Amino acid sequence: MKPFTYAYATDATAAVTAASGGAAPATRSPVQFLGGGTTLLDLMKLDVMQPTQLVDITRITDASMRSVETTAQGLRIGALATMRQVADHPTVRRDYPVVSEALWLAASPQIRNMARVGGNVLQRTRCAYFRDPSWPCNKREPGSGCPALEGQNRWHAVLGASEQCIASYPGDWAIALVALDASVQTLAASGPRTIRFADLHRPPGTTPHIETSLAPGELITGFTIPAGPHTRRSLYLKVRDRESYEFALASAAVAMELRGDTVTAVRIGIGGPVAVPWRAREAEAELTGKPLTEASALAAARVAFGGAQAREHNAFRIPLGQQTLVRALLQAQSMELKS
Ligand SMILES: Cc1cc2nc3c(=O)[nH]c(=O)nc-3n(C[C@H](O)[C@H](O)[C@H](O)COP(=O)(O)OP(=O)(O)OC[C@H]3O[C@@H](n4cnc5c(N)ncnc54)[C@H](O)[C@@H]3O)c2cc1C
Ligand code: SF4
Repeated sequence: MKPFTYAYATDATAAVTAASGGAAPATRSPVQFLGGGTTLLDLMKLDVMQPTQLVDITRITDASMRSVETTAQGLRIGALATMRQVADHPTVRRDYPVVSEALWLAASPQIRNMARVGGNVLQRTRCAYFRDPSWPCNKREPGSGCPALEGQNRWHAVLGASEQCIASYPGDWAIALVALDASVQTLAASGPRTIRFADLHRPPGTTPHIETSLAPGELITGFTIPAGPHTRRSLYLKVRDRESYEFALASAAVAMELRGDTVTAVRIGIGGPVAVPWRAREAEAELTGKPLTEASALAAARVAFGGAQAREHNAFRIPLGQQTLVRALLQAQSMELKS
């Protein structure tokens, strides 16, 4: 681990002031905010991230950054709420089950108690080449190459990847957020702004080292999820190598409205072999207005993975992802809404 300076802030404005001046893209910025530290400190110990300054944001007292509030308009979640706090919130569990489940199925109890939802959406890829600086990696060192293209790529993306990087986005909660049309509130030296969650993560393209649309020193302050009749009939299904403490091989976040068995509205997020949190809009269009059956769900799942591109070891994740989505849709259809 390289030497760094440490500062802490007790309000959001002070945190942004302390972090201002970074000139690089946010993920490579010399100044990093410290939340629970469960991604950042691991990567610093591995010398993958080498910030020169940490700004500890866990002592910020702004209530809006720590609270979870539900209103008729929707859900507002402060970026410093812990994963457990959001997952366990009774109204979230009842009215937004997909939000709660995506957090419950992530990581371990210890990590969920420690990690904040702001840091959660900014977790980095688990690509083994990225996490080992003895390998070249376009994401870590732009232009150095991508050994995963011809190497071990079981964990890599089939949707949204590029010739420069096929890393997958590993998080669960972001899949629920992208499905539910969430937005992100931020604070930068230039002031506050709101961005669509779908625009937060950037596909790798030719610049895989630029992972988000955040500017250096821009603080995520919270998230909003609009209310709607679809959010109660929603769930997150995660398929993994073992039933606990493991990242998704495939996952699906679905939320829907039904009239009888006919789908009147549906929202679909895909996780696992995706370069960024993936919204399957074509699959939604395929299903809307049709009776939900195994056959129509499979047709939608095929559309969802229509543009998938597999490598040597990850082709199995296309049918797995399709079947995961089919199961998620059928389970959402038969779920009993909590009162
Ligand atoms: C063994 C293990 C297993 C895991 N399994 C899963 C899993 O199955 N599913 C899953 O989804 N996740 C999993 N995770 C990832 C875990 O959920 C994340 O590490 C955690 O949510 C990150 O939150 P944090 O508060 O610790 O972030 P930190 O590590 O503190 O920060 C992460 C990054 O976000 C930046 N940051 C933090 N907060 C803000 C903010 N408010 N504004 C701007 N930038 C900010 C930091 O500067 C840093 O770059 C796992 C992690 C581990 C170690
Ligand atoms: S897939 Fe991306 S993160 Fe992994 S080695 Fe290639 S460039 Fe690096």
